[in-house]
Amino acid sequence: MNVLVINCGSSSLKYQLINSDTEQVAAKGLCERIGVDGRMVYQPAGGEKEITEAPMPTHNEAIRMVLEALVNPKTGVLKSLDEVDAIGHRVLHGGAKLTRSVIVDDYAKQVIRECFDLGPLHNPANLMGIEACMKLMPGKPNVAVFDTAFHQTMPPKAYRYAIPTRYYQKYAIRKYGFHGTSHSFVSGETIKFLGLDRNNSKVIVAHLGNGASISAVKNGKCADTSMGLTPLEGLIMGTRSGDLDPAVLEYICNHENITVSQMLHILNKESGVYALSDNLSSDFRDLEDAMNNGNESAALAIDAFCYRVAKYIGSYAAAMNGVDAITFTGGIGENAGIVREKVLSYFGYLGIKMDPEQNKKRGENFILSTPDSRVTVCVIPTNEELAICRETVELVSRA
Ligand code: ADP
Repeated sequence: MNVLVINCGSSSLKYQLINSDTEQVAAKGLCERIGVDGRMVYQPAGGEKEITEAPMPTHNEAIRMVLEALVNPKTGVLKSLDEVDAIGHRVLHGGAKLTRSVIVDDYAKQVIRECFDLGPLHNPANLMGIEACMKLMPGKPNVAVFDTAFHQTMPPKAYRYAIPTRYYQKYAIRKYGFHGTSHSFVSGETIKFLGLDRNNSKVIVAHLGNGASISAVKNGKCADTSMGLTPLEGLIMGTRSGDLDPAVLEYICNHENITVSQMLHILNKESGVYALSDNLSSDFRDLEDAMNNGNESAALAIDAFCYRVAKYIGSYAAAMNGVDAITFTGGIGENAGIVREKVLSYFGYLGIKMDPEQNKKRGENFILSTPDSRVTVCVIPTNEELAICRETVELVSRA
């Protein structure tokens, strides 16, 4: 099957055309500056990157350009769009109503719309992407794969906030969790890679990228995760604060005479390691270089980031009453040896031993712990597009 995987952001769109039989990417790229001007990057497998600048007032024009590129007689990889069998869309929020991937129908569209409030940047863009594909490729199945779905197996003691029940009943305020496609894919790959018994397994996945979250996966199902109602809760991230005392909001808003929305913008966009490093960078490559050159703020940012990760891993080991495997993934988890080393330095009491030679590796599946480590630690690169492709094929084949 040829599956077109689409990931729409508010002004961008990433895409991959994947052959589900070989799981090879036939072509991939992205559209940027949608609604501003428009720029498309297109790259067929083994071919050169092409960049096209053209107006993209909405996601509709962006998707039209992607489809034209895929069937372009010179550099396209398809003879006609009939060869696209299905489209898989990453959708941020499915709320409590859509708890697994679905073939998009009117009800699914309605629920995605109802969740605009919970995912104001992503859900509207995700729906635009779906509607554009429906218009441009009528009759093809569109599958929505939700970032929140994998976390729907959390029990109430993990997802309820200790605030009045009326807010849960009236507004569905609860922990939802995000990066679910990645946590699902990486925990599943960990179980396969290490030969664990899925029904008797305790895995902690640390997805550390610009956005970062951790999940506790017991017997293949999510038991807890660090992000909350929105992706702001939990770990310290590139520019997001993660956990903090909510009273900080009131204090700063009152003293600086700013609104809660302005403060939330600061917590989302101007905080995290970027803030701790005194606005040096949100990128770990820059922070590591600065730390190695004696910059104390950069060192504090990295230390605080790793400390928070370690605290979550420790609490999830407690939540599952043990842990068989810890897996690092995401841009930082896959590449930043210094972060893995610092995080693991907190777990002598769990009998975890890291192999420093292995820790030099990056970008592939590998075991990071020594053979006598009581818990196996590994690195598994995430592949959300492939996960969306697999989900899409499963749903379409069953229909
Ligand atoms: P997202 O998908 O959340 O935007 P990624 O998972 O792609 O983020 O991770 C991006 C981050 O990974 C970068 O900001 C950078 O901090 C980190 N990163 C990428 N490559 C390296 C590297 N070689 N060494 C250290 N950190 C890296």
